[in-house]
Amino acid sequence: MKNLGDVFKKLISHCKEYGFIYPSSEVYDGLSAVYDYGPYGVELKNNIKTYWWKAMVQMHENIVGIDSAIFMHPKIWKASGHVDAFNDPLIDNRDSKKRYRADVLIEEYLGKIDDKIDKEIEKAAKRFGSAFDEGVFRSTNERVLKYAEERGRIAQRYVKAMEDNDLAELKQIIVDCEIVDPEGGSRNWTDVRQFNLMFATHFGALAGATEEDNRVYLRPETAQGIFVNFLNVQRTTRQKLPFGIAQIGKAFRNEIVARQFIFRMREFEQMEMQFFVPPGSEMEWYNYWREERLKWHKAIFNSSQLRFHVHEKLAHYANAAVDIEFEFPFGFKEIEGIHSRTNFDLGNHQEFSGKKMQYFDPDLGESYVPFVVETSVGADRTFLAVMTSALQEEEVPDAEGGTALRTVLKLHPALAPVKVAVLPLVAKDALTDKARQIFSELKMSVQCQYDEKDSIGRRYRRQDAIGTPYCVTVDFDTLTDDTVTIRNRDTLQQERVPISAVEAIITKATGINQLLR
Ligand code: ATP
Repeated sequence: MKNLGDVFKKLISHCKEYGFIYPSSEVYDGLSAVYDYGPYGVELKNNIKTYWWKAMVQMHENIVGIDSAIFMHPKIWKASGHVDAFNDPLIDNRDSKKRYRADVLIEEYLGKIDDKIDKEIEKAAKRFGSAFDEGVFRSTNERVLKYAEERGRIAQRYVKAMEDNDLAELKQIIVDCEIVDPEGGSRNWTDVRQFNLMFATHFGALAGATEEDNRVYLRPETAQGIFVNFLNVQRTTRQKLPFGIAQIGKAFRNEIVARQFIFRMREFEQMEMQFFVPPGSEMEWYNYWREERLKWHKAIFNSSQLRFHVHEKLAHYANAAVDIEFEFPFGFKEIEGIHSRTNFDLGNHQEFSGKKMQYFDPDLGESYVPFVVETSVGADRTFLAVMTSALQEEEVPDAEGGTALRTVLKLHPALAPVKVAVLPLVAKDALTDKARQIFSELKMSVQCQYDEKDSIGRRYRRQDAIGTPYCVTVDFDTLTDDTVTIRNRDTLQQERVPISAVEAIITKATGINQLLR
Protein backbone atom coordinates (compact mmCIF):
# COMPACT_ATOMS: atom_id res chain seq x y z
CA MET A 1 0.00 0.00 0.00
CA LYS A 2 1.48 3.32 -1.07
CA ASN A 3 1.80 6.18 1.39
CA LEU A 4 -0.50 8.86 -0.03
CA GLY A 5 1.67 11.66 1.39
CA ASP A 6 4.58 10.26 -0.62
CA VAL A 7 2.41 9.97 -3.74
CA PHE A 8 1.51 13.64 -3.40
CA LYS A 9 5.13 14.71 -2.83
CA LYS A 10 6.18 12.76 -5.88
CA LEU A 11 3.49 14.45 -7.95
CA ILE A 12 4.63 17.92 -6.85
CA SER A 13 8.26 17.19 -7.62
CA HIS A 14 7.36 15.62 -10.98
CA CYS A 15 5.40 18.78 -11.87
CA LYS A 16 8.46 20.88 -11.12
CA GLU A 17 11.14 18.65 -12.59
CA TYR A 18 9.36 18.24 -15.91
CA GLY A 19 8.27 21.86 -16.39
CA PHE A 20 4.58 21.63 -15.50
CA ILE A 21 4.39 23.83 -12.39
CA TYR A 22 6.90 25.98 -10.50
CA PRO A 23 6.43 27.81 -7.21
CA SER A 24 5.90 31.50 -7.99
CA SER A 25 8.83 33.88 -7.34
CA GLU A 26 10.97 30.91 -6.35
CA VAL A 27 14.25 32.84 -6.34
CA TYR A 28 12.71 34.95 -3.57
CA ASP A 29 11.65 31.79 -1.69
CA GLY A 30 8.21 31.70 -3.27
CA LEU A 31 4.91 33.39 -2.56
CA SER A 32 2.49 31.35 -0.50
CA ALA A 33 -0.24 29.58 -2.51
CA VAL A 34 0.78 31.16 -5.82
CA TYR A 35 2.18 29.03 -8.64
CA ASP A 36 3.44 29.46 -12.21
CA TYR A 37 2.74 27.05 -15.06
CA GLY A 38 5.78 25.90 -17.03
CA PRO A 39 6.06 24.97 -20.73
CA TYR A 40 4.22 21.63 -20.46
CA GLY A 41 1.88 22.88 -17.76
CA VAL A 42 0.57 25.71 -19.90
CA GLU A 43 -0.09 23.31 -22.81
CA LEU A 44 -1.93 20.84 -20.59
CA LYS A 45 -3.95 23.59 -18.92
CA ASN A 46 -4.86 25.10 -22.30
CA ASN A 47 -6.05 21.68 -23.47
CA ILE A 48 -8.24 21.33 -20.37
CA LYS A 49 -9.71 24.77 -21.03
CA THR A 50 -10.28 23.94 -24.70
CA TYR A 51 -12.05 20.72 -23.71
CA TRP A 52 -14.32 22.66 -21.35
CA TRP A 53 -14.97 25.47 -23.85
CA LYS A 54 -15.80 23.08 -26.66
CA ALA A 55 -18.01 20.88 -24.47
CA MET A 56 -19.90 23.84 -23.05
CA VAL A 57 -19.98 26.47 -25.82
CA GLN A 58 -19.36 24.77 -29.13
CA MET A 59 -21.55 21.75 -28.34
CA HIS A 60 -24.52 23.85 -27.17
CA GLU A 61 -26.37 26.15 -29.53
CA ASN A 62 -27.82 27.95 -26.52
CA ILE A 63 -24.55 28.69 -24.68
CA VAL A 64 -22.28 31.57 -25.70
CA GLY A 65 -18.98 32.78 -24.29
CA ILE A 66 -17.63 36.08 -22.98
CA ASP A 67 -14.39 37.35 -21.49
CA SER A 68 -15.13 40.07 -18.94
CA ALA A 69 -12.60 42.27 -17.14
CA ILE A 70 -11.14 41.32 -13.79
CA PHE A 71 -11.79 44.79 -12.37
CA MET A 72 -15.44 45.65 -11.95
CA HIS A 73 -17.41 48.42 -10.35
CA PRO A 74 -17.07 48.02 -6.55
CA LYS A 75 -20.85 48.16 -6.10
CA ILE A 76 -21.04 44.80 -7.87
CA TRP A 77 -19.48 43.12 -4.85
CA LYS A 78 -21.88 44.89 -2.51
CA ALA A 79 -24.83 43.71 -4.61
CA SER A 80 -23.50 40.16 -4.91
CA GLY A 81 -23.12 39.90 -1.13
CA HIS A 82 -19.36 39.37 -1.27
CA VAL A 83 -18.45 42.50 0.71
CA ASP A 84 -20.67 41.43 3.59
CA ALA A 85 -20.74 37.67 3.34
CA PHE A 86 -17.72 36.30 1.47
CA ASN A 87 -16.05 35.41 4.72
CA ASP A 88 -14.50 32.33 6.18
CA PRO A 89 -14.57 31.75 9.93
CA LEU A 90 -10.96 31.35 11.01
CA ILE A 91 -9.53 29.87 14.16
CA ASP A 92 -5.92 29.69 15.34
CA ASN A 93 -4.27 27.05 17.44
CA ARG A 94 -2.17 28.75 20.09
CA ASP A 95 0.30 25.87 20.40
CA SER A 96 1.03 25.04 16.77
CA LYS A 97 0.42 28.64 15.61
CA LYS A 98 -1.45 27.12 12.67
CA ARG A 99 -4.54 28.76 11.24
CA TYR A 100 -7.63 26.78 10.22
CA ARG A 101 -11.11 27.32 8.87
CA ALA A 102 -13.51 26.53 11.70
CA ASP A 103 -16.14 25.29 9.21
CA VAL A 104 -13.65 22.89 7.63
CA LEU A 105 -12.62 21.46 11.01
CA ILE A 106 -16.28 20.75 11.82
CA GLU A 107 -17.06 19.33 8.37
CA GLU A 108 -14.07 17.02 8.62
CA TYR A 109 -15.34 15.86 12.00
CA LEU A 110 -18.73 15.11 10.44
CA GLY A 111 -16.94 13.30 7.61
CA LYS A 112 -15.19 11.08 10.15
CA ILE A 113 -18.55 10.07 11.63
CA ASP A 114 -19.76 9.24 8.10
CA ASP A 115 -16.68 7.07 7.62
CA LYS A 116 -17.47 5.19 10.84
CA ILE A 117 -21.03 4.54 9.64
CA ASP A 118 -19.73 3.37 6.25
CA LYS A 119 -17.31 0.99 7.97
CA GLU A 120 -20.09 -0.58 10.05
CA ILE A 121 -22.16 -1.06 6.88
CA GLU A 122 -19.24 -2.51 4.99
CA LYS A 123 -18.50 -4.99 7.80
CA ALA A 124 -22.14 -6.04 8.06
CA ALA A 125 -22.49 -6.37 4.29
CA LYS A 126 -19.56 -8.80 4.31
CA ARG A 127 -20.97 -10.72 7.26
CA PHE A 128 -24.52 -11.10 5.89
CA GLY A 129 -23.66 -11.49 2.20
CA SER A 130 -26.58 -11.44 -0.21
CA ALA A 131 -29.10 -11.34 2.68
CA PHE A 132 -27.88 -7.87 3.68
CA ASP A 133 -30.43 -5.06 3.60
CA GLU A 134 -28.67 -1.71 4.07
CA GLY A 135 -31.88 0.22 4.76
CA VAL A 136 -32.92 -2.12 7.58
CA PHE A 137 -29.38 -2.17 9.00
CA ARG A 138 -29.18 1.64 9.04
CA SER A 139 -32.47 1.99 10.85
CA THR A 140 -31.90 -0.76 13.43
CA ASN A 141 -28.21 -1.21 14.21
CA GLU A 142 -27.49 0.38 17.57
CA ARG A 143 -24.02 1.61 16.80
CA VAL A 144 -25.06 3.13 13.45
CA LEU A 145 -28.05 4.80 15.10
CA LYS A 146 -25.80 6.29 17.78
CA TYR A 147 -23.39 7.69 15.18
CA ALA A 148 -26.25 9.00 13.04
CA GLU A 149 -27.86 10.71 16.03
CA GLU A 150 -24.58 12.41 16.95
CA ARG A 151 -23.97 13.47 13.35
CA GLY A 152 -27.47 14.88 12.99
CA ARG A 153 -27.20 16.84 16.23
CA ILE A 154 -23.84 18.40 15.37
CA ALA A 155 -24.75 19.07 11.73
CA GLN A 156 -27.86 20.90 12.88
CA ARG A 157 -25.92 23.08 15.32
CA TYR A 158 -23.27 23.74 12.66
CA VAL A 159 -25.71 24.77 9.91
CA LYS A 160 -27.57 27.06 12.31
CA ALA A 161 -24.34 28.65 13.56
CA MET A 162 -23.20 29.32 9.99
CA GLU A 163 -26.61 30.73 9.02
CA ASP A 164 -26.75 32.97 12.09
CA ASN A 165 -23.10 33.94 11.73
CA ASP A 166 -22.71 32.78 15.35
CA LEU A 167 -18.94 32.56 15.78
CA ALA A 168 -19.10 31.76 19.52
CA GLU A 169 -21.26 28.72 18.75
CA LEU A 170 -18.80 27.51 16.07
CA LYS A 171 -16.04 27.64 18.67
CA GLN A 172 -18.32 25.84 21.17
CA ILE A 173 -18.95 23.02 18.65
CA ILE A 174 -15.19 22.60 18.22
CA VAL A 175 -14.77 22.48 22.01
CA ASP A 176 -17.75 20.12 22.56
CA CYS A 177 -16.58 17.72 19.84
CA GLU A 178 -13.07 17.82 21.29
CA ILE A 179 -11.67 18.58 17.84
CA VAL A 180 -7.89 18.69 17.93
CA ASP A 181 -5.36 20.51 15.74
CA PRO A 182 -4.82 18.05 12.85
CA GLU A 183 -1.10 18.86 12.89
CA GLY A 184 -0.18 19.11 16.56
CA GLY A 185 -3.08 17.42 18.36
CA SER A 186 -3.63 20.40 20.66
CA ARG A 187 -7.01 21.76 21.78
CA ASN A 188 -5.71 25.19 22.70
CA TRP A 189 -7.94 27.20 20.30
CA THR A 190 -8.47 30.95 19.98
CA ASP A 191 -11.92 32.42 19.40
CA VAL A 192 -13.37 32.21 15.88
CA ARG A 193 -13.13 35.38 13.75
CA GLN A 194 -14.56 36.30 10.35
CA PHE A 195 -12.11 36.94 7.55
CA ASN A 196 -13.11 38.44 4.19
CA LEU A 197 -11.50 36.61 1.29
CA MET A 198 -11.48 39.42 -1.26
CA PHE A 199 -8.28 41.19 -2.25
CA ALA A 200 -8.74 44.94 -2.39
CA THR A 201 -6.67 47.49 -4.24
CA HIS A 202 -6.98 51.16 -5.23
CA PHE A 203 -8.07 52.46 -8.56
CA GLY A 204 -6.39 55.47 -10.15
CA ALA A 205 -5.94 58.62 -8.06
CA LEU A 206 -9.05 60.70 -7.87
CA ALA A 207 -8.34 64.09 -6.30
CA GLY A 208 -10.27 64.49 -3.09
CA ALA A 209 -11.48 60.88 -3.05
CA THR A 210 -10.97 58.83 0.08
CA GLU A 211 -9.30 55.41 0.08
CA GLU A 212 -12.75 53.91 0.51
CA ASP A 213 -14.04 55.72 -2.63
CA ASN A 214 -11.18 54.33 -4.72
CA ARG A 215 -11.34 50.77 -3.47
CA VAL A 216 -11.76 48.04 -6.09
CA TYR A 217 -11.55 44.30 -5.67
CA LEU A 218 -9.87 41.57 -7.61
CA ARG A 219 -12.84 39.41 -8.57
CA PRO A 220 -13.27 36.36 -6.31
CA GLU A 221 -15.37 34.59 -8.98
CA THR A 222 -15.90 35.12 -12.70
CA ALA A 223 -19.68 34.76 -12.38
CA GLN A 224 -20.47 38.41 -11.67
CA GLY A 225 -18.96 39.47 -15.01
CA ILE A 226 -21.56 37.22 -16.61
CA PHE A 227 -24.49 38.54 -14.56
CA VAL A 228 -23.84 42.20 -15.27
CA ASN A 229 -23.52 41.41 -19.00
CA PHE A 230 -26.66 39.27 -19.08
CA LEU A 231 -28.80 41.74 -21.02
CA ASN A 232 -25.99 42.80 -23.39
CA VAL A 233 -25.41 39.19 -24.35
CA GLN A 234 -29.08 38.26 -24.55
CA ARG A 235 -29.87 41.20 -26.82
CA THR A 236 -26.86 40.88 -29.08
CA THR A 237 -27.19 37.13 -29.57
CA ARG A 238 -31.03 37.10 -29.57
CA GLN A 239 -30.99 34.04 -27.31
CA LYS A 240 -34.24 32.88 -25.76
CA LEU A 241 -34.44 31.38 -22.29
CA PRO A 242 -33.15 28.89 -21.31
CA PHE A 243 -29.65 29.88 -22.40
CA GLY A 244 -26.20 30.06 -20.89
CA ILE A 245 -23.16 32.33 -20.80
CA ALA A 246 -19.74 30.77 -20.28
CA GLN A 247 -16.45 32.30 -19.23
CA ILE A 248 -12.94 31.16 -18.36
CA GLY A 249 -10.84 33.52 -16.29
CA LYS A 250 -8.77 34.32 -13.26
CA ALA A 251 -10.26 34.68 -9.79
CA PHE A 252 -8.55 35.75 -6.56
CA ARG A 253 -9.21 34.71 -2.98
CA ASN A 254 -7.16 35.47 0.09
CA GLU A 255 -7.50 31.88 1.31
CA ILE A 256 -6.86 31.30 5.02
CA VAL A 257 -5.47 27.83 4.67
CA ALA A 258 -3.52 27.24 1.50
CA ARG A 259 -1.35 24.19 1.93
CA GLN A 260 -2.28 21.78 -0.80
CA PHE A 261 -0.23 22.79 -3.83
CA ILE A 262 -2.48 24.05 -6.64
CA PHE A 263 -5.63 22.70 -4.96
CA ARG A 264 -6.10 25.93 -3.05
CA MET A 265 -4.42 28.96 -4.51
CA ARG A 266 -4.79 32.68 -3.95
CA GLU A 267 -4.86 33.30 -7.71
CA PHE A 268 -6.56 30.63 -9.79
CA GLU A 269 -8.66 30.07 -12.86
CA GLN A 270 -12.33 29.21 -13.06
CA MET A 271 -14.42 27.83 -15.90
CA GLU A 272 -17.95 28.98 -15.17
CA MET A 273 -21.27 28.80 -16.95
CA GLN A 274 -24.43 30.57 -15.80
CA PHE A 275 -27.60 29.08 -17.26
CA PHE A 276 -30.59 31.46 -17.25
CA VAL A 277 -33.97 29.77 -16.90
CA PRO A 278 -37.60 30.72 -16.27
CA PRO A 279 -38.54 30.82 -12.55
CA GLY A 280 -39.83 27.46 -11.39
CA SER A 281 -37.75 25.41 -13.84
CA GLU A 282 -34.47 25.80 -11.95
CA MET A 283 -34.52 22.43 -10.17
CA GLU A 284 -35.08 20.59 -13.43
CA TRP A 285 -32.06 22.37 -14.96
CA TYR A 286 -30.02 21.93 -11.78
CA ASN A 287 -30.52 18.16 -12.06
CA TYR A 288 -29.76 18.26 -15.77
CA TRP A 289 -26.43 20.10 -15.31
CA ARG A 290 -25.40 17.88 -12.41
CA GLU A 291 -25.51 14.88 -14.70
CA GLU A 292 -24.03 16.67 -17.73
CA ARG A 293 -21.07 17.91 -15.74
CA LEU A 294 -20.45 14.48 -14.23
CA LYS A 295 -20.31 13.08 -17.78
CA TRP A 296 -17.67 15.69 -18.68
CA HIS A 297 -15.46 14.48 -15.83
CA LYS A 298 -16.12 10.82 -16.61
CA ALA A 299 -14.60 11.30 -20.07
CA ILE A 300 -11.24 12.02 -18.44
CA PHE A 301 -11.41 10.25 -15.05
CA ASN A 302 -12.47 6.80 -13.80
CA SER A 303 -15.93 6.79 -12.28
CA SER A 304 -14.48 5.42 -9.04
CA GLN A 305 -12.42 8.63 -8.64
CA LEU A 306 -15.55 10.80 -8.71
CA ARG A 307 -18.51 11.33 -6.42
CA PHE A 308 -21.21 13.86 -5.61
CA HIS A 309 -21.29 15.70 -2.30
CA VAL A 310 -24.50 17.53 -1.45
CA HIS A 311 -23.88 20.72 0.53
CA GLU A 312 -24.54 20.76 4.25
CA LYS A 313 -24.68 24.53 4.30
CA LEU A 314 -25.75 26.62 1.30
CA ALA A 315 -23.96 29.76 0.14
CA HIS A 316 -25.84 33.02 0.61
CA TYR A 317 -27.13 32.94 -2.98
CA ALA A 318 -28.12 29.29 -3.43
CA ASN A 319 -31.21 27.14 -2.92
CA ALA A 320 -29.50 23.89 -3.90
CA ALA A 321 -25.85 22.98 -4.32
CA VAL A 322 -23.79 19.92 -5.04
CA ASP A 323 -20.07 19.41 -5.50
CA ILE A 324 -18.40 16.98 -7.82
CA GLU A 325 -15.51 15.59 -5.81
CA PHE A 326 -12.36 13.91 -7.08
CA GLU A 327 -10.23 11.52 -5.08
CA PHE A 328 -6.97 13.43 -4.63
CA PRO A 329 -4.04 11.87 -2.73
CA PHE A 330 -5.36 13.78 0.31
CA GLY A 331 -8.91 12.43 -0.06
CA PHE A 332 -12.14 13.22 -1.94
CA LYS A 333 -12.31 17.00 -2.41
CA GLU A 334 -14.35 19.46 -4.48
CA ILE A 335 -13.35 19.98 -8.06
CA GLU A 336 -16.60 21.56 -9.29
CA GLY A 337 -19.65 23.21 -7.76
CA ILE A 338 -23.13 23.16 -9.30
CA HIS A 339 -25.41 25.72 -7.71
CA SER A 340 -28.97 26.79 -8.16
CA ARG A 341 -28.38 30.52 -7.55
CA THR A 342 -32.07 31.52 -7.76
CA ASN A 343 -32.65 35.11 -9.00
CA PHE A 344 -30.43 36.42 -6.19
CA ASP A 345 -27.66 37.98 -8.29
CA LEU A 346 -29.73 39.48 -11.11
CA GLY A 347 -32.34 40.66 -8.60
CA ASN A 348 -29.71 42.40 -6.50
CA HIS A 349 -28.00 44.00 -9.49
CA GLN A 350 -31.40 45.31 -10.55
CA GLU A 351 -31.88 46.81 -7.11
CA PHE A 352 -28.36 48.23 -6.65
CA SER A 353 -27.93 49.59 -10.19
CA GLY A 354 -31.49 50.77 -10.65
CA LYS A 355 -31.43 49.16 -14.15
CA LYS A 356 -33.91 46.49 -15.17
CA MET A 357 -32.42 42.99 -15.31
CA GLN A 358 -35.46 41.38 -16.84
CA TYR A 359 -36.17 39.15 -19.73
CA PHE A 360 -39.32 39.49 -21.80
CA ASP A 361 -40.65 36.00 -22.31
CA PRO A 362 -42.44 35.97 -25.68
CA ASP A 363 -44.22 32.69 -24.85
CA LEU A 364 -45.71 34.00 -21.61
CA GLY A 365 -46.02 37.60 -22.78
CA GLU A 366 -44.45 38.88 -19.54
CA SER A 367 -41.11 40.07 -18.13
CA TYR A 368 -39.28 38.54 -15.20
CA VAL A 369 -35.84 38.26 -13.56
CA PRO A 370 -34.53 34.85 -14.71
CA PHE A 371 -33.33 32.18 -12.30
CA VAL A 372 -29.79 30.86 -12.68
CA VAL A 373 -28.11 27.47 -12.49
CA GLU A 374 -24.32 27.71 -12.29
CA THR A 375 -21.62 25.20 -13.09
CA SER A 376 -18.22 26.26 -11.77
CA VAL A 377 -15.10 24.16 -12.15
CA GLY A 378 -11.51 25.07 -11.30
CA ALA A 379 -9.05 24.79 -14.20
CA ASP A 380 -6.22 24.27 -11.71
CA ARG A 381 -8.04 21.66 -9.63
CA THR A 382 -8.91 19.80 -12.83
CA PHE A 383 -5.23 20.02 -13.78
CA LEU A 384 -4.24 18.55 -10.41
CA ALA A 385 -6.82 15.78 -10.78
CA VAL A 386 -5.59 14.99 -14.30
CA MET A 387 -1.99 14.78 -13.07
CA THR A 388 -3.05 12.68 -10.06
CA SER A 389 -4.75 10.08 -12.19
CA ALA A 390 -2.10 10.10 -14.93
CA LEU A 391 1.17 9.79 -13.00
CA GLN A 392 2.23 6.17 -12.72
CA GLU A 393 5.26 4.05 -12.17
CA GLU A 394 5.31 0.69 -13.89
CA GLU A 395 7.61 -2.10 -14.86
CA VAL A 396 8.31 -2.45 -18.56
CA PRO A 397 10.56 -4.82 -20.52
CA ASP A 398 14.08 -3.48 -21.01
CA ALA A 399 16.49 -4.01 -23.91
CA GLU A 400 18.32 -6.88 -22.14
CA GLY A 401 15.19 -8.98 -21.71
CA GLY A 402 14.70 -7.96 -18.08
CA THR A 403 12.41 -5.28 -16.67
CA ALA A 404 12.89 -1.63 -15.84
CA LEU A 405 10.83 0.86 -13.87
CA ARG A 406 9.44 3.73 -15.88
CA THR A 407 7.62 6.89 -14.83
CA VAL A 408 4.83 7.60 -17.24
CA LEU A 409 2.08 10.20 -17.45
CA LYS A 410 -0.90 8.36 -18.86
CA LEU A 411 -2.69 11.50 -19.98
CA HIS A 412 -5.62 11.27 -22.33
CA PRO A 413 -4.03 11.95 -25.76
CA ALA A 414 -6.41 14.88 -26.27
CA LEU A 415 -5.02 16.56 -23.14
CA ALA A 416 -1.34 15.67 -23.56
CA PRO A 417 0.90 18.76 -23.86
CA VAL A 418 2.94 17.23 -26.69
CA LYS A 419 1.05 14.97 -29.09
CA VAL A 420 4.01 13.45 -30.89
CA ALA A 421 7.80 13.46 -30.72
CA VAL A 422 9.84 12.94 -33.86
CA LEU A 423 13.05 11.07 -33.09
CA PRO A 424 15.87 9.99 -35.37
CA LEU A 425 17.08 6.58 -34.18
CA VAL A 426 20.63 7.96 -33.96
CA ALA A 427 21.99 11.47 -34.52
CA LYS A 428 23.35 10.81 -38.05
CA ASP A 429 22.81 13.47 -40.72
CA ALA A 430 20.80 11.28 -43.07
CA LEU A 431 18.36 10.41 -40.28
CA THR A 432 18.23 13.82 -38.61
CA ASP A 433 17.54 15.58 -41.95
CA LYS A 434 14.68 13.23 -42.67
CA ALA A 435 13.31 13.51 -39.12
CA ARG A 436 13.46 17.31 -39.24
CA GLN A 437 11.52 17.26 -42.52
CA ILE A 438 8.76 15.18 -40.93
CA PHE A 439 8.78 17.44 -37.86
CA SER A 440 8.41 20.59 -40.01
CA GLU A 441 5.28 19.15 -41.60
CA LEU A 442 3.73 17.77 -38.42
CA LYS A 443 4.22 20.88 -36.30
CA MET A 444 1.72 22.76 -38.44
CA SER A 445 -1.13 20.57 -37.29
CA VAL A 446 -0.20 19.27 -33.81
CA GLN A 447 1.98 20.21 -30.83
CA CYS A 448 5.10 18.36 -31.78
CA GLN A 449 8.68 17.96 -30.53
CA TYR A 450 11.97 17.05 -32.19
CA ASP A 451 14.70 15.40 -30.10
CA GLU A 452 18.01 13.84 -31.13
CA LYS A 453 19.95 14.08 -27.86
CA ASP A 454 20.84 10.89 -25.90
CA SER A 455 20.01 7.26 -26.67
CA ILE A 456 16.62 6.44 -28.15
CA GLY A 457 15.65 4.64 -24.92
CA ARG A 458 16.29 7.73 -22.82
CA ARG A 459 14.36 9.91 -25.24
CA TYR A 460 11.35 7.55 -25.04
CA ARG A 461 11.50 7.78 -21.22
CA ARG A 462 11.57 11.59 -21.39
CA GLN A 463 8.48 11.61 -23.58
CA ASP A 464 6.77 9.08 -21.27
CA ALA A 465 7.41 11.41 -18.32
CA ILE A 466 5.64 14.33 -20.00
CA GLY A 467 2.83 12.14 -21.29
CA THR A 468 3.51 12.24 -25.05
CA PRO A 469 1.17 9.59 -26.47
CA TYR A 470 3.16 8.89 -29.68
CA CYS A 471 6.79 8.84 -30.79
CA VAL A 472 7.65 8.71 -34.48
CA THR A 473 11.04 7.10 -34.99
CA VAL A 474 13.06 7.58 -38.15
CA ASP A 475 15.49 4.69 -38.83
CA PHE A 476 17.61 3.49 -41.76
CA ASP A 477 14.66 1.75 -43.43
CA THR A 478 12.93 5.12 -43.56
CA LEU A 479 15.57 6.31 -46.02
CA THR A 480 14.72 3.59 -48.50
CA ASP A 481 10.98 3.02 -48.09
CA ASP A 482 9.61 6.26 -46.59
CA THR A 483 8.10 4.49 -43.58
CA VAL A 484 8.53 5.23 -39.86
CA THR A 485 7.50 3.53 -36.64
CA ILE A 486 4.87 5.00 -34.35
CA ARG A 487 5.41 3.99 -30.72
CA ASN A 488 2.36 3.95 -28.48
CA ARG A 489 3.15 5.31 -24.98
CA ASP A 490 0.77 2.95 -23.16
CA THR A 491 1.08 -0.33 -25.05
CA LEU A 492 4.71 0.22 -26.12
CA GLN A 493 3.74 -1.31 -29.46
CA GLN A 494 5.58 0.02 -32.50
CA GLU A 495 3.68 0.13 -35.75
CA ARG A 496 5.34 0.70 -39.11
CA VAL A 497 3.45 3.17 -41.29
CA PRO A 498 4.13 5.27 -44.40
CA ILE A 499 5.25 8.82 -43.60
CA SER A 500 2.31 10.11 -45.63
CA ALA A 501 -0.12 8.51 -43.11
CA VAL A 502 1.44 9.91 -39.91
CA GLU A 503 -0.31 13.26 -39.74
CA ALA A 504 -3.79 11.79 -40.18
CA ILE A 505 -3.14 9.07 -37.58
CA ILE A 506 -1.85 11.52 -34.95
CA THR A 507 -4.43 14.28 -35.47
CA LYS A 508 -7.26 11.75 -35.34
CA ALA A 509 -6.02 10.09 -32.15
CA THR A 510 -5.18 13.28 -30.25
CA GLY A 511 -7.95 15.71 -31.20
CA ILE A 512 -10.15 17.21 -28.49
CA ASN A 513 -13.15 15.80 -30.37
CA GLN A 514 -12.08 12.38 -28.99
CA LEU A 515 -13.50 13.62 -25.67
CA LEU A 516 -16.70 15.09 -27.04
CA ARG A 517 -18.30 12.01 -28.54
P1 ATP B 1 -13.74 25.40 -1.36
O1 ATP B 1 -14.93 24.97 -0.55
O2 ATP B 1 -12.77 24.29 -1.67
O3 ATP B 1 -13.08 26.64 -0.86
P2 ATP B 1 -15.61 26.75 -2.95
O4 ATP B 1 -16.84 25.98 -2.67
O5 ATP B 1 -15.40 28.06 -2.28
O6 ATP B 1 -14.31 25.83 -2.77
P3 ATP B 1 -16.56 27.69 -5.44
O7 ATP B 1 -16.78 29.07 -4.95
O8 ATP B 1 -17.75 26.82 -5.65
O9 ATP B 1 -15.49 26.97 -4.50
O10 ATP B 1 -15.68 27.77 -6.75
C1 ATP B 1 -15.85 26.89 -7.83
C2 ATP B 1 -14.59 26.14 -8.17
O11 ATP B 1 -13.47 27.02 -8.24
C3 ATP B 1 -14.19 25.11 -7.13
O12 ATP B 1 -14.89 23.90 -7.33
C4 ATP B 1 -12.72 24.94 -7.39
O13 ATP B 1 -12.48 24.03 -8.46
C5 ATP B 1 -12.29 26.32 -7.83
N1 ATP B 1 -11.65 27.01 -6.70
C6 ATP B 1 -12.25 27.70 -5.71
N2 ATP B 1 -11.34 28.20 -4.86
C7 ATP B 1 -10.13 27.83 -5.33
C8 ATP B 1 -8.79 28.06 -4.91
N3 ATP B 1 -8.52 28.79 -3.85
N4 ATP B 1 -7.78 27.52 -5.65
C9 ATP B 1 -8.03 26.80 -6.75
N5 ATP B 1 -9.27 26.56 -7.19
C10 ATP B 1 -10.31 27.07 -6.52
